[in-house]
Amino acid sequence: LSFIQNLPKAELHAHLNGCIPISILRQLAESYHPPSPSAPDISEIQNGLETLDNFNLDSIHEFFGAFRTIYALISTREALATATRTVLSQFLEGHPPECTYLELRTTPKHTSTLPLHEYLDAVLSEVERYPPDRAALILSLDRRMPIADRSVISVGKIIGEAIRLKNEGRRVVGIDLCGDPLAGDMTLLEPYIANAKAAGLRITLHIAETTQNPPKETLQLLAYGPHRLGHATFLDEEAKEKVIKEGMAIEICLSSNLICKTVPRLSAHHISYYLERNHPIAICTDDTLPFRNSLTAEYALLLAPPPIGLGLTEAQVERIAKNSLEVAFN
Ligand code: IMP
Repeated sequence: LSFIQNLPKAELHAHLNGCIPISILRQLAESYHPPSPSAPDISEIQNGLETLDNFNLDSIHEFFGAFRTIYALISTREALATATRTVLSQFLEGHPPECTYLELRTTPKHTSTLPLHEYLDAVLSEVERYPPDRAALILSLDRRMPIADRSVISVGKIIGEAIRLKNEGRRVVGIDLCGDPLAGDMTLLEPYIANAKAAGLRITLHIAETTQNPPKETLQLLAYGPHRLGHATFLDEEAKEKVIKEGMAIEICLSSNLICKTVPRLSAHHISYYLERNHPIAICTDDTLPFRNSLTAEYALLLAPPPIGLGLTEAQVERIAKNSLEVAFN
């Protein structure tokens, strides 16, 4: 255990609102007042917390509904700041810390009680309490977002905000694409991703998370030239070839894939394909609340003998940890 704990490593794929401990959500629930008539009432919040605490999934598609309770609870600046501080400290403040460097990601939100600029400023202010070599933020685009309409939350708006914040010297280092893997039309993203890249932002995309993601969409997303890929579970041969050739690092989330049932067992995980080819990967947690994992536990899966783990050597694990720092966006 101390070998893993003392290994310098980066956590590069952690969703802020998927990593808030249940104890903090329960604490936030004590002062919760529904901010609007359509917001969840107290009993819905209590039921939501029970579901989150006993999370059980039949498929990845059930997963996204679980966030409604969390979003209600972080809908004031104070609550969001508390949640963000807790998530940062969970990764960065153990003895030794879970990781040397954390690249946290979040989907910007806009509500009457927490407008977009406040949401971004609240999260960034917490991230920026740490030095740049310890923490940074990626802004996520949700596949369900409108592309360019006048709404406050659209792909165009979020990319514009990311560029503005970066130019102001705030700690935004990249753009992610996440959310329900089957939602949205990914052919429309190209000019927005190109703008973000031209402004010096780095790109990571959740890609091919399910068998239903068409290979054509996957190739289209790869053509945008992302620097890293999230999951990349169901790449076909053509896609894999491109990924290897262009050196796009893969963010690997072992427990997440097993619990969401996109991978049946560890021995069938696509990590082996990339390990055999010495391709850069980063081991990540994804969402520590529903998956009840930690970065240390994910690394322990690498070392543990099969069938519990992958039975890698310490030298291999050391190389993977080094990789994670090398492919960071900071
Ligand atoms: P947030 O972006 O801070 O609100 O974190 C939670 C959000 O991350 C969820 O609503 C999803 O849109 C996204 N997310 C978390 N895990 C996954 C995943 O495995 N695949 C795709 N999206 C995800």
